[in-house]
Amino acid sequence: MICPACENKMTEMNVQDITVDVCVGGCGGIWFDGQELKKVDEPHEAVGRNLLEVAYDPNVVVEQSERRDCPHCSDIVMMRHFSSIKREVEVDECPSCSGFFLDRGELNTIREQYTTEEERSNAALDMFGEMFDEDLEDEQAASWQRVEASRKLANMFKFLMPSHYIPIKEKLGI
Ligand SMILES: [Zn+2]
Ligand SMILES: [Zn+2]
Repeated sequence: MICPACENKMTEMNVQDITVDVCVGGCGGIWFDGQELKKVDEPHEAVGRNLLEVAYDPNVVVEQSERRDCPHCSDIVMMRHFSSIKREVEVDECPSCSGFFLDRGELNTIREQYTTEEERSNAALDMFGEMFDEDLEDEQAASWQRVEASRKLANMFKFLMPSHYIPIKEKLGI
């Protein structure tokens, strides 16, 4: 898979049973496949250091203002939005396959933003609630697409912050 930010060839990495693509030796970004994120139903305790310490090339300059093409789909441009309630971290999300791309360092930023478990848990709930409220105003069909995408984003959050639990199923009534 080619990195959507710097066009380096990405390296597959397994974190427990989840496969992510990491831009080792390039910009250091991380791609979370939408299908892989579906598997994140239980907390993953050991996500840790591999993803936090990706070897990257400091000479690679990433253009932050440009929209990026999805590395998985052939001709889909990704949407960019904030992943956290503090609005300090942006992710690129593919509207088609619901994969996510995180720039180098954003993973660390996400983790550093919330130092206690309570903060992490509240942040996750806030984020999810915010996305869910937005859904309620949409048409129903579009809404269900967003719910599915929200679940994946919430799963990514769970994956990155393994120590908390998001009661998604209760929220969605499934
Ligand atoms: Zn890259
Ligand atoms: Zn895609």
